[in-house]
Amino acid sequence: MYTRRYEELDLTVGLVVGGERCLVVDTRGSRVQGRELAGAVREVTPLPVTIALTHAHFDHAFGVSAFPHAPVWAHTRCRTALAARGDRDRREWTERYRRDGRSDLADELAATPVVLPTRTFDDVARLDLGGRGVELVHPGRGHTDHDVLVVAGDVVFAGDLVEHDAGGSFTAESFGPDTDLDAWPAALDVVAGHRPRVVVAGHGEPVDSAFLTRAGAQLRTLARLRSDVRAGALGLDDALAASPLRAEVTRAALA
Ligand SMILES: [Zn+2]
Repeated sequence: MYTRRYEELDLTVGLVVGGERCLVVDTRGSRVQGRELAGAVREVTPLPVTIALTHAHFDHAFGVSAFPHAPVWAHTRCRTALAARGDRDRREWTERYRRDGRSDLADELAATPVVLPTRTFDDVARLDLGGRGVELVHPGRGHTDHDVLVVAGDVVFAGDLVEHDAGGSFTAESFGPDTDLDAWPAALDVVAGHRPRVVVAGHGEPVDSAFLTRAGAQLRTLARLRSDVRAGALGLDDALAASPLRAEVTRAALA
């Protein structure tokens, strides 16, 4: 079992090697980045590659185009999201990279085709890698409506359901239009229910169960603040002051 962590967006991807095939968990954010990952996988194992996507966001899913023969597993709604919004995500992030003066990343992304998953499921899928079983689990809605956990023994790859920012959890990017803040803590309980020794976060360092408990409590607080703000019982400034997270992150969560 391997993880590989990248400077760009502090993304972490995973690799589980069985006796007959290997499973790549998330693929990075462009065809060029996916090819780099494919090369790194080949340094570890010559076995055929299967891919599991934790969710549809470009930084996890757009490297798929570098693995043309690999079966690609994802939640049914991940496929729907990539088909409906993949092109728009690519355009928006291409523009963002150009604005930030990172034209190499913008060019790579603009030249990357959106490839849809080929194997989808709704609740649970079990993969046999040859002497090593892996479970793909949809823990309910959270960071998106189609998050997938990859459970490999006592290691759980959690995608952006768990994000480890420097000194804490969650970034402004953790909360998007397809986030379900109210349901997210229960999804983290599902992660904890697998009793993981290690939880591999989609961004940042791997974490432990205590981190999940803290992150769940933070999300519950954010959900309560949001409902108070919406009910008119709390002003935005007071909510920002009461939040356990940075103002920029809290704003994204309350939006
Ligand atoms: Zn994400």
